[in-house]
Amino acid sequence: MAQKKCYGFVIDVSRCIDCRACLVACSAENKVGMKYTRIWVRDLGVKGEYPNLERTFVPYNCMHCENPPCTQVCVSGATYKDKETGLVLVDQEACIGCGFCVDACPYNARYLDRERGVVDKCTGCIQRLQVGQQPACVTTCVGKARLFGDFNDPASEVSVALKNARAIQRLDYELADGTHTEPNIYFINGDVMDPQVQPHEPTYSLAETSWKSLLIPAVLAGIGASFLGQATFFTKQLVEGEKEFEE
Ligand code: SF4
Ligand code: SF4
Repeated sequence: MAQKKCYGFVIDVSRCIDCRACLVACSAENKVGMKYTRIWVRDLGVKGEYPNLERTFVPYNCMHCENPPCTQVCVSGATYKDKETGLVLVDQEACIGCGFCVDACPYNARYLDRERGVVDKCTGCIQRLQVGQQPACVTTCVGKARLFGDFNDPASEVSVALKNARAIQRLDYELADGTHTEPNIYFINGDVMDPQVQPHEPTYSLAETSWKSLLIPAVLAGIGASFLGQATFFTKQLVEGEKEFEE
């Protein structure tokens, strides 16, 4: 049986110069709306004492967690972990735009595209991976700060980079049930332990059973697959109505 792949990123923070070419490449490749981005570069500022000063920039996007809390709260099954690649993806046809997954992500790695009524985030450029290409952000990175590959392949660029790294940090996060997110982004050769990039407590979790997490799947299941379009429309109205009520 073929070995399961585990795609993810290695970010060499000592090489990022904050040029933000990756943001532009990502938006162009994935036709991300002008108001949004799937990817960020955090400026951790200057640290140390003169003359030993250092400034660290941290490229940042979805961690493609091994144990993603976003998939656990998704009421329509739109958010899932791809069995073949290990990437965490969103089926935007099935997404009802409720935004629970946005609140469940401890890394702020998702956003709700209000114009399209769906959630969006980094997909690891799976459309490029399927034709043997690297993600747009990786090929565009002039400093070679961003690497992408299969952590289960010891010869992959990411595995080799981890083997040779001076230092490795992973922004793992313990969830309420005691399990860990186990992110598939590793930061190497620098210190990213800064409040700006630390994971935060999710504001929505499965433990918080509310009428929403019970009613919405019941509506989808009850109406049946042939009426999924209408069900999705109905639940979007339901969620929008609730948001207006809360505002
Ligand atoms: S970083 Fe957030 S959006 Fe990405 S897989 Fe983890 S929980 Fe889901
Ligand atoms: S892998 Fe693709 S979708 Fe993810 S940040 Fe890079 S360019 Fe954007």
